[in-house]
Amino acid sequence: MQHKEAILTEVEIIRNRFFTITVSNCENNIVLYIQDTTEEVIKNKRTIEKNKLRLEEERRKFLGISTELKTKCDIIEILRDREKEHLMHLKDVINNITEGLIVVDKKGNFSMCNRAVYNIVGMQIGELLNIYSIGGRYNILNTKDNTNLWKVYKDAFEKFVPIVNLTAKFIDKISGFEKFIEINSNPILNRSKEVMYTIITMKDVTEAKLHEIKAEEQAYFINNVVNTLEVPIAVLNYPDLTYKLINKEQVQIFRNTSGKELNLEDIIGMPVEGVDSDYLSGNIYEIIDVVGKKDKEFTLSPYRIIDKNLNERFYKFKFIPYKDIEGKVSSIHMHGLDITEEVNHNIELEKIAKLKDEFFTVISHELRTPLTIIYSSLQLAYNIYSNEISENLDKTLRRIDQNCSRLLKLINNILDLSKAEAGFLTVNNSWFDIVNTTENIIASVNLYAKSKGIELIFDTNEEEVMVCLDKEKYERILLNLLSNAVKFTPEGKQILVTIEDDMENVALSVKDEGIGIPKDKLNYIFDRFAQVNTSLSRRAEGTGIGLSLVKKLVEYMDGKIEVKSNEGVGSEFYIRFNKISAQSKPQLIPETMGSNINNKIDIEFSDIN
Ligand code: ADP
Repeated sequence: MQHKEAILTEVEIIRNRFFTITVSNCENNIVLYIQDTTEEVIKNKRTIEKNKLRLEEERRKFLGISTELKTKCDIIEILRDREKEHLMHLKDVINNITEGLIVVDKKGNFSMCNRAVYNIVGMQIGELLNIYSIGGRYNILNTKDNTNLWKVYKDAFEKFVPIVNLTAKFIDKISGFEKFIEINSNPILNRSKEVMYTIITMKDVTEAKLHEIKAEEQAYFINNVVNTLEVPIAVLNYPDLTYKLINKEQVQIFRNTSGKELNLEDIIGMPVEGVDSDYLSGNIYEIIDVVGKKDKEFTLSPYRIIDKNLNERFYKFKFIPYKDIEGKVSSIHMHGLDITEEVNHNIELEKIAKLKDEFFTVISHELRTPLTIIYSSLQLAYNIYSNEISENLDKTLRRIDQNCSRLLKLINNILDLSKAEAGFLTVNNSWFDIVNTTENIIASVNLYAKSKGIELIFDTNEEEVMVCLDKEKYERILLNLLSNAVKFTPEGKQILVTIEDDMENVALSVKDEGIGIPKDKLNYIFDRFAQVNTSLSRRAEGTGIGLSLVKKLVEYMDGKIEVKSNEGVGSEFYIRFNKISAQSKPQLIPETMGSNINNKIDIEFSDIN
């Protein structure tokens, strides 16, 4: 019989107690072997429980780790996406910038090349493999010295020498078309200082360069023009006062005045004081102060310079401020006009004027001396020999006296008119009361008027009117007009003299009830030697130059004269003066008449019988 055995474990026969029952077949007997294994079972159960807990713990840990790992993986994924996105952006940026960007490897091949490069060099994608392919299409020159750029290429890509802001001229080998490209290159090194690759940037600067060339050409042209002008020109930077521009003519002046061999190029950029010449050294700073700070033009004339041949030259220098766009004075332009001829001419004219003045003085002296002698002889005759003077002799002597006065009047008028017409009459203004002066003259002239049976009336709207005019000339004018009025007014008629004062002006009117002046003659009444009615004039023995002198004297004092006249009714001479004459240069003039007013009246009225 076969021996068979069966084992039953953990059989809970009694509550909470466990047994292992072994059933065996032994020689046809069934043997039950029961063993209490409670302790063992409990121990095992505990172990299982422990293991279960440990497993649970490890599962939890695993779960935590895997969640963390998942999160990390997700982050990495996001970062990778972002990086991808950034790279895309970077690519977009690189491809869309106007500056060309090339990355060249150690062998000179392009490992990267953005779109702008193709546009700049005008080549297709397949054509651009390395830097030499550009050289195949273009002749490339360094604009600095117009040499081929080959050596710079070699140094940059073989010896890794950086290129900094180099402007190259690209000349298309086929079309000859030119473009200007600014190139920069920089080798990138690794940690062991070995070159990994070179970054090249390119910029099409054709437009700017062409502008620059045009500006240079223009500057060259302007310089040529400025230098061919025989006018000294200089431009100073303001406020640093350095020379910005100067032409040959001005340099020549600096050379002459400093005695130094200065060059145009040396002076550009030099400070004003650097030139160290006598030229304007004294007052240049004052002038610049006025021109620059006050933004005002300044003229310096005449400025005397002795040139290298020791000749005297005169210049009229103009200083003109120039403003920048912001409205600030940024430069001062100066130029000089050679006025040597003009100055010499003026000196000559002054000499002539002096000679003429002397001539007038001598002539008036020479003409008046014999007359004065005749006058004093007459006076002597009347004073000493009055008893011996018979009636007839008295008549003769009086005629001599009267004609002497007439001659003196004529000489005075001719001399003064000639002087006035030649522009040599000077105005000597002073303050005086025109009412009082007129009144005094009228009182004295009244004797003559009365002797002719004429009533002389004076009227004024003010008791006192102060004016700044040439008193002597005013007296001459009034006397002249009065003598004419008396001369041409018949007995029993009236002469009215008025002074009218308004705010700025004063007017003198001499109105008579005389024979009047024909309308057609009124126009040339002030012309030299104009005598209206020869027969009447002959009778009155006028010279015809009195009114032209009056007009000249009035004009010398910036006044205006008008005449109104009706034949047979009378005439009115109307003069208007500004109370303060513009000609206010006080100068001494030689007296052409006696200074005594009565003498003047006698002379002026000498032709009135
Ligand atoms: P003259 O020395 O001859 O008076 P004027 O130049 O003073 O010279 O005068 C020129 C002419 O104008 C006179 O000859 C005269 O014919 C005319 N004339 C001047 N004043 C008067 C006047 N008040 N009435 C009429 N005629 C006058």
